[in-house]
Amino acid sequence: MGNERIVIISGPSGVGKSTVVSQLLDRSPVPMVLSISATTREPRVGEIDFQNYIFLSDDDFQLRRDNGDFLECKEVFGRGYWYGTLKSTVESGHSDGKWVLLEIDVEGAIAVKQQKPDTIMIFLHPGSMGTLEQRLRDRNTDSEDSIQRRLEVARNEIGKSNLYDHIIENKTINDTVNQICDVLKRLAG
Ligand code: 5GP
Repeated sequence: MGNERIVIISGPSGVGKSTVVSQLLDRSPVPMVLSISATTREPRVGEIDFQNYIFLSDDDFQLRRDNGDFLECKEVFGRGYWYGTLKSTVESGHSDGKWVLLEIDVEGAIAVKQQKPDTIMIFLHPGSMGTLEQRLRDRNTDSEDSIQRRLEVARNEIGKSNLYDHIIENKTINDTVNQICDVLKRLAG
């Protein structure tokens, strides 16, 4: 008890973050809980409130923002959708003796690291832009417009990946999760 940390996983949309995160939660060598972010975007088919995200109206989100409830929050994709990590979510994970896993974007990660310098930042790298584009098309959830926007954001995020403590190319889920578990084992001592 007492050495619970924040672990951030970032990487472009389509790199395989959600799969890595769900396997990491099963196999983590330290007790770990996933922070559920708040967002103002519409749920996708199959997404469940309080499980995938806390889906908030614009007004509710801004009220909480004005109230200082977020550890970090930002408008992603320049389309008016807000995403944010609630301080209360992180605090309740830590008070349960758990490390808290955040799946957030690069700017959010940098904002958290500034406030909590012992945060562990992990960037999942797609290998190549071609691989990423294929994965986005295969998952069949985004319009062409959205795919192009995500690719543009991805180029930008990959450009900032050198700010991360660990960059892992997501070749196979199993290898990636093993590498993250090794990092956590080392840090947990
Ligand atoms: P999606 O809409 O595909 O679920 O997520 C879009 C992007 O928002 C992803 O890059 C994801 O990492 C980011 N994101 C999700 N939750 C948060 C959050 O709480 N804070 C920040 N800064 N980004 C987030």
